[in-house]
Amino acid sequence: MKYAVDNNGYYGKFGGAYVPEILHKNVSELQERYLTIMQDSAFQKELNQLLHDYVGRPTSLYFATRLSQFVGAKVYLKREDLCHTGAHKLNNALGQILLAKHMGKTRIVAETGAGQHGVATATVCALMNMECVVYMGETDVKRQYLNVQRMYMLGAKVVPVTSGNKTLKDATNEAIRDWTCNPKDTFYIIGSVVGPHPYPDMVARFQAVISEEIMWQLQQHENTSYPDYVIACVGGGSNAAGSFYHFLEHDSVKLIAAEAAGLGVDTNESAATIHLGREGILHGSKTLIMQTDDGQIVEPYSISAGLDYPGIGPMHAFLAESGRAQVYAITDDEALQAALQLTRLEGIIPAIESSHALVVLAKHSFKPNDVIVLTVSGRGDKDMETYCNRLTF
Ligand SMILES: *Cc1c(COP(=O)(O)O)cnc(C)c1O
Repeated sequence: MKYAVDNNGYYGKFGGAYVPEILHKNVSELQERYLTIMQDSAFQKELNQLLHDYVGRPTSLYFATRLSQFVGAKVYLKREDLCHTGAHKLNNALGQILLAKHMGKTRIVAETGAGQHGVATATVCALMNMECVVYMGETDVKRQYLNVQRMYMLGAKVVPVTSGNKTLKDATNEAIRDWTCNPKDTFYIIGSVVGPHPYPDMVARFQAVISEEIMWQLQQHENTSYPDYVIACVGGGSNAAGSFYHFLEHDSVKLIAAEAAGLGVDTNESAATIHLGREGILHGSKTLIMQTDDGQIVEPYSISAGLDYPGIGPMHAFLAESGRAQVYAITDDEALQAALQLTRLEGIIPAIESSHALVVLAKHSFKPNDVIVLTVSGRGDKDMETYCNRLTF
C-alpha cells in the first residue's frame, strides 16, 4: 500500500484540488513548481540553515523516565514545544515563505483561527521583510487578544472577517478571495495539511523534518530508527503528518492520531472529524467533514483552539479509512488531566492540543518493551489561562 500522495494529488479517494476556475492558474503554477524548488540545493541549504539557527532544530527527542514508569513502556517525547514561537507551525511557515521567495512573490496572505499560524506567518514575514496580511474571524480576533497583538508587533496587518460565523472557515474564504484577486505577487501560506493539492503534500514535506530527526535520534538511543508507535494530535493534521511521514511505508511502526472530542463524540459539542465526519469538499479538498444532512458545515467545538477545525487533512482521512492509523477521540477533561500529569511527572507544561495525544498513553495498552514516540506539538504558555480556570493546582 502506498500512503504518500499520488500524481493527481489524491490519498486514496481523498484530496485533489477542487478550486474555482479563477484560482486554477495559481494552483497549477504551485503544483508544477513546488517539488522542483523544494529539491533545489540552494533552497535546501537556506531552509536547513534557518531551521537550525532560527527555529532551533533539531528539537530534542527526550526519554521521559517518570512518564515511562507510569505508562509501563518506553516513552520518548519529540519536543516541538522547543521550536521558536512555541510550536511546530514555524517549520511549515518558514518553508512556504522561502518557496514564495523562490517563486518571485512579494506579498503573503494567511488565514488563522486561534492565531498560532498567524503568528508563525507574521514571524517569517518579519524575517524575510515581506508584506503580511492575516485574515481572522472577528469572533476569534476578540477571543485571541494576545496573538493579535503579537501579529501587530511583528508588523502584520490583521483583517477581521465579519461573514458567516466569523471564525476560521470564514477567514479561509477571505484569504482565498484575496489570493484570487492578487495572483501575480501574492503567495497564500496555509497552516496545515489541508487545502487543494499541492498544499497537503507540501506542508507534510515541510513538517517531515520531525520524523527525519526522530529516525536518527532514536538510532542513538535505541539502536533502531523505527519505534513501535508514533502518537500525535490532529487538528488539520500537520504535526501528525510530519511525525508519521518517514514511517508511513513501515508497517511495523504503528501510527496513532488523537483528535478532539470536545465534550464527547455523542454530544453536539465536538471536533472529532474522523469519528463524526462524512465525505465532502472543504477548502479545495475532498475529505471528511463535520456537516449536516444537507451539507452545511457544523461549527466544531474543542477546548483546544488548534484542534477546532471542521475538516481533516486528506492524508489522515485515508490513513484512518485504510486502517494504517488508529484514531482516538479525546475529551476536554481527559486532555486537561493529562496536561497536569505531564507537568508534574516531567516538568513540561504542554499545549492543550498536545495534551490530547498524551491521553492515548493511558487509553492504549502497551507492552513493557514497546518504544513509543509522542510528539509534543507545542508548549502550554498560551494555554495558562485555560489551565488556571479549569484545573486546581
Ligand atoms: C495548530 C496546532 C496544532 C494543530 O495543528 P496540526 O496541523 O493538526 O498539527 C497542534 N498543536 C499545536 C501546539 C498547535 O499550535
